[in-house]
Amino acid sequence: MTTVVLQNLTRRFGDVVAVDRLNLEIESGEMVAFLGPSGCGKTTTLRMITGLLAPSQGDVLFDGRSILGIPTEKRGAVMVFQKHLLFPTMNVAQNVGFGLRMQGVDKREIDRRVSEMLERVHLPGFEQRRAHELSGGQQQRVALARALIVEPKVLLLDEPLANLDANLRLEMRALIRMIQQELSITSIFVTHDQEEAVMLADRVALMFNGQVQQFDRPQAFYDRPQSMEVAQFFRNNNFLRGIRKGDQVETRLGILRIDPDTVAQPDGPVLATVRPEEIVLAPAADQDENRVRVTIQSSVYMGTYSQVLLDVDGQTWQARGPADLRIAPGEQITVQLPRQHLWLLPG
Ligand code: ATP
Repeated sequence: MTTVVLQNLTRRFGDVVAVDRLNLEIESGEMVAFLGPSGCGKTTTLRMITGLLAPSQGDVLFDGRSILGIPTEKRGAVMVFQKHLLFPTMNVAQNVGFGLRMQGVDKREIDRRVSEMLERVHLPGFEQRRAHELSGGQQQRVALARALIVEPKVLLLDEPLANLDANLRLEMRALIRMIQQELSITSIFVTHDQEEAVMLADRVALMFNGQVQQFDRPQAFYDRPQSMEVAQFFRNNNFLRGIRKGDQVETRLGILRIDPDTVAQPDGPVLATVRPEEIVLAPAADQDENRVRVTIQSSVYMGTYSQVLLDVDGQTWQARGPADLRIAPGEQITVQLPRQHLWLLPG
């Protein structure tokens, strides 16, 4: 059980600031996702934690102690890469047992722990296979077993599922999560796939330009984004300017009521937002609060729902309707922005 703290962690490459004064506290046994667009500094941060890269500034603490002076192999952090990098001349048992052999563990003990670990990753009896006799998903499971067998303090995964097809990815996600929870191992994984981040992580660190924009539990990125950029990364582009005054927001489309207890922005200019799936396209007559007149731009059948584009005060908003929705472009309708789903961002 290990806590990981990043303090003002910074890495420059010449003029490029890849990671910029990053602060983060990860709890013991927690699974954290580093999420963000390509080039935002996720992998660089991971490499500084393992020791593959030295920070330009700042510190990395395990259980309150700096590990920067400790060589990579003694930090107790192991990394699983996107490409599995198994030793081609060794069979599965030799690959998985490698770390224990390096530690001088007794052969019988190694055999026992290798078999146990292969059971855990759902590859029992695969000891004698070689890397080229395994599928991509099986190789990735061997890589995971090889990392976990040394009982690391911290497990680091760099886009571990990126090379797998969609079905296999789902299966591996579930497996990684199950093992991580069984062993309660503090884990950090890098991904640019928001679905993967929210499915796997206890908390997500969303990074832009080398900085953490929001560090939160997954649901908060949907219903409590801290900025417009965060909302947009989670596919919400619905914003309406207004002025907050107490429990209401004055907009050009009328007054919207808000839940003052849940909305953190102070009185003054704000951006009101509602996620596409929370907009009520056909409110009942008695739902008379927060009704807004909008124009349909388009409606596209998506199989299980319709994706609807709305003109809301000159801005294009997204909404979701039933699959059999019948509305024509240009049509004016009244929608409802439910008070409990209305969230305010800095104006
Ligand atoms: P991706 O999702 O594409 O892997 P990332 O978020 O992991 O991206 P990093 O690989 O950490 O991003 O890179 C962050 C920034 O640092 C990028 O601008 C990258 O070009 C730069 N960078 C990374 N490694 C080096 C290096 N060894 N030399 C110079 N610049 C580097």
